[in-house]
Amino acid sequence: MFLAKICEFCNKDFIAKKTVTKFCGVVCARKAYKKKIRDKKIGEVEINTDTQKQEKLVVLKNQKYLTIAEVAAILKISKRSAYLYVSQGRLPAVNFGVRCLRISSLELDSLFKENANEMK
Ligand SMILES: [Zn+2]
Repeated sequence: MFLAKICEFCNKDFIAKKTVTKFCGVVCARKAYKKKIRDKKIGEVEINTDTQKQEKLVVLKNQKYLTIAEVAAILKISKRSAYLYVSQGRLPAVNFGVRCLRISSLELDSLFKENANEMK
C-alpha cells in the first residue's frame, strides 16, 4: 500500500508505505525528534523560572519592610498602581527620601482586609 502524505517536518509531499508514517525520511524524523526534545526542555526551563519567581515572592513576604517594586510584585499590580495606593493613603508608607519609600508588609494584609470589606 502506498499513501500520498505530507511530511510533518518539511511539508514536502511523499509516498508513505504505512498510515502511521509522519515524515518523508529518516532525516526529517530525526530532526523532528530533536525539535520535540528541545521544545520539551524549553518548557521545563520556563517552569523552573516560574518556581523561582514563586520562591522569591515567598522570601519577600517574609520581609518586614518592602519597596514599591516588591509590593507591586507581591500584589501582582503595576508599580504605578502601588504608588497610587500610597498617594491615596490607602497603603501607609514611610518616605526615607527620593525613591526610598518603604511599606510595612503588615500593611499589605490590612490593605487586603479593607478592600475585601469594600466589596461587600
Ligand atoms: Zn521531510
